[in-house]
Amino acid sequence: MSAKQSHVFPRNCHADLPVAVGGEGCYLIDTEGKRYFDGSGGAAVSCLGHSNERVREAVKRQVDQLAFAHTGFFTSEPAEALADLLATNAPGDLDRVYFVSGGSEAVESAIKLARQYHVERGEPQRRHLIARRQSYHGNTLGALSAGGNAWRRQQFAPLLVEMSHIAPCYEYAERPEDESPEDYGRRVADELETEIQRLGPDSVMAFIAEPVVGATLGAVPAVPGYFKRVREICDRHGVLLILDEVMCGMGRTGHLFACEAEGIAPDILCIAKGLGAGYQPIGAMLCSAPVYDAIANGSGFFQHGHTYVGHPVAAAAGLAVLRELLDHDLPAQVRARGDYLQSALEARFGQHPHIGDIRGRGLFRGLEFVADRTTKTPFDPARSVAGKLKKAAMAEGLICYPMPGTRDGKAGDHLLLAPPFIASEADLDEMIERLSRAIDAVLP
Ligand code: PMP
Repeated sequence: MSAKQSHVFPRNCHADLPVAVGGEGCYLIDTEGKRYFDGSGGAAVSCLGHSNERVREAVKRQVDQLAFAHTGFFTSEPAEALADLLATNAPGDLDRVYFVSGGSEAVESAIKLARQYHVERGEPQRRHLIARRQSYHGNTLGALSAGGNAWRRQQFAPLLVEMSHIAPCYEYAERPEDESPEDYGRRVADELETEIQRLGPDSVMAFIAEPVVGATLGAVPAVPGYFKRVREICDRHGVLLILDEVMCGMGRTGHLFACEAEGIAPDILCIAKGLGAGYQPIGAMLCSAPVYDAIANGSGFFQHGHTYVGHPVAAAAGLAVLRELLDHDLPAQVRARGDYLQSALEARFGQHPHIGDIRGRGLFRGLEFVADRTTKTPFDPARSVAGKLKKAAMAEGLICYPMPGTRDGKAGDHLLLAPPFIASEADLDEMIERLSRAIDAVLP
């Protein structure tokens, strides 16, 4: 349908989008009956595919039983059960769950909770939030302020939070050949120490990062040891560690939570996308007992909230999704299929003259496209290769998430692959076939 005939306000005002009318397993179907393999779940949302019976039934049952009860007046059975199950399976002592409707809200809530935590403890001067360059943490103003992607921020300056940005842990582009991964990880983590010292240790409230970077850089895990060092630095200075697992959480990387692979737990954890798996908009912010207790034993009131938090139908969907993940040990399946996908991508594209890197964890994989494979020089940002690849992929019946790179010469265009966990090896082969045809059409 042409955007001109539509009253929907699309993000890309010039987009000419097909109208989706159905979903079946790994496929989306449009009004013409065309089937699209969902190679990215939008952006890492549809972990269970598009017709999961357990989640659909749970949503229908809950709508019939109770659609809404405002959390200022009631809690609800699905919200209680989901919070229980999340707390039981979360790393560390993250045992309080604050529900929201999506990723930006989860990050926004985390920023406000971190700030209020320090105020309640008599340290109101701790206002500074540190994040990493090129990061993305959401589009509401607080979350946008946290993000370190200059291009996304530029039209909205001045932003809200007292912010600074340190380097991401981006081994592929940033580690010199003569430095070991361990030394590199330590050196980049130590930028946090330097920044805390620069700002004054008692003025910093929190550090926020994605354990596996999804947005902007395209499925980049940190080198081993990096997050352990980050955790130590935060502990040394009483700085809260916020991990944004909006994209990489909920089994996507082959662990229920991506930080499990790093052997650490944050003070605050943000999840969304895969929690509702596309069936309902839901996210959550989990926090540790000491953070919760600071509020509970202080003013006793978290100065935050939205009308739809803890929505019973959304919680029922989240509960059914989490039960599916746990009952079928889908994170283990994601690890196995993820290894298969990485090998198959390397076999098909490893020598491609315009593919610089293939990386990621589990069913969370990024392909970087470069002008020159040997020098790893990114394409000129004006060429928008990612946008063209997205379009060509859709023509081939494949959804994969384009990322236009960082525009600073460091990271080129990417495609993010985040297929449903239910994808078989044959499904993944089919995805790669379609992707290969799309790449040939754009970069022959
Ligand atoms: N954090 C990360 C890491 C994300 O990838 C996203 C969404 N791409 C968000 C936060 C914001 O989530 P939402 O779009 O649900 O607001």
